[in-house]
Amino acid sequence: MALIVQKFGGTSVGSVERIEQVAAKVKKFRDNGDDIVVVVSAMSGETNRLIDLAKQISEQPVARELDVMVSTGEQVTIALLAMALIKIGVPAVSYTGNQVRILTDSAFTKARILQIDAQNIHKELKAGRVVVVAGFQGVDEAGNITTLGRGGSDTTGVALAAALKADECQIYTDVDGVYTTDPRVVAKAQRLDKITFEEMLEMASLGSKVLQIRAVEFAGKYSVPLRVLHSFQEGPGTLITLDEEESMEQPIISGIAFNRDEAKLTIRGVPDTPGVAFKILGPISAANVEVDMIVQNVAHDNTTDFTFTVHRNDYQNALQVLEGIARDMGAREVIGDTDIAKVSIVGVGMRSHAGVASRMFEALAKENINIQMISTSEIKVSVVIEEKYLELAVRALHTAFELDAPAGKVE
Ligand code: ASP
Ligand code: MG
Repeated sequence: MALIVQKFGGTSVGSVERIEQVAAKVKKFRDNGDDIVVVVSAMSGETNRLIDLAKQISEQPVARELDVMVSTGEQVTIALLAMALIKIGVPAVSYTGNQVRILTDSAFTKARILQIDAQNIHKELKAGRVVVVAGFQGVDEAGNITTLGRGGSDTTGVALAAALKADECQIYTDVDGVYTTDPRVVAKAQRLDKITFEEMLEMASLGSKVLQIRAVEFAGKYSVPLRVLHSFQEGPGTLITLDEEESMEQPIISGIAFNRDEAKLTIRGVPDTPGVAFKILGPISAANVEVDMIVQNVAHDNTTDFTFTVHRNDYQNALQVLEGIARDMGAREVIGDTDIAKVSIVGVGMRSHAGVASRMFEALAKENINIQMISTSEIKVSVVIEEKYLELAVRALHTAFELDAPAGKVE
């Protein structure tokens, strides 16, 4: 007998029919003898609908009141799911964040969980009930309702699993697991049986949006085994774990991540003197723009070029700041480029294998794709390329690192 926390996202509880399907699924586990705590999101579209309502009153609604309102989405689904369970003979009870007592700080709309009181839930489980908990919400010390940020139900699920010392936290969603890359780009992408937290974080932060990043961090920190599964299809999903087993069959690269959300800025002909990087990036960060990759060239004639990438949404802002800096420094010119994309290979196997980066560069060279920037970490190599070659690059790398599904295998 195991204690399992199951989280169902908005599309999985998007209609009454689906909520009844979820109830049937929960019943199966329970009939198996497992103790089940279910965390649910609001019905799909509901949180957006509520936020739109608030925006009709004010472009910048008071954060405390916004949380009072958007937390209602989850309150509806916990009650509906509890009713659906009871209807099919499964004793169940719903709990809001406040009723559990998921204690958070007071940062409305982006609160952090401080502590979870597991007592009530243990009591209900002991009495034989399935406990249905509202995702995304908590309560602060003063009793105010708080929410955890968009996608926060994942974090609720993981935090509850940690607090209850659950055997597994299962995240049910509309995909059947984590893939080697986006199957819409590479038809031969494969579902991974396993991935480490570290790899998952890289994949998630690089734009594969299966799980909220914060939830993955949380699960890693508290060693909560996390599994991503399809809500309505059978299958083992993808297990996200701590252990990096070194087996011969283990591929060196677990996945290929990419994103088109960045833009590149170059300031040319800046004096090569101490403090230059700070003079450029200081004002950029003061303008609240986050910088991702940075490259400074070797100087000749005592001047150098300095290039960095930012989120595309910050591009105009960063460009303006940079033009100001260029004037002050007497730099030659500022060039910007939004038609770029970042492609990364991710894998803990890189730690113990040399030549991974050169294999990547070889694959890109074969396709005649020019690399504009490179950055590496212990388990990742990223390159910036021209956006129009993105899909070609991802496919070439997927093949080069032997991630393609064998012919005839359909996931
Ligand atoms: N309902 C919230 C949202 O849409 C939380 C969640 O679904 O995880 O962001
Ligand atoms: Mg979600």
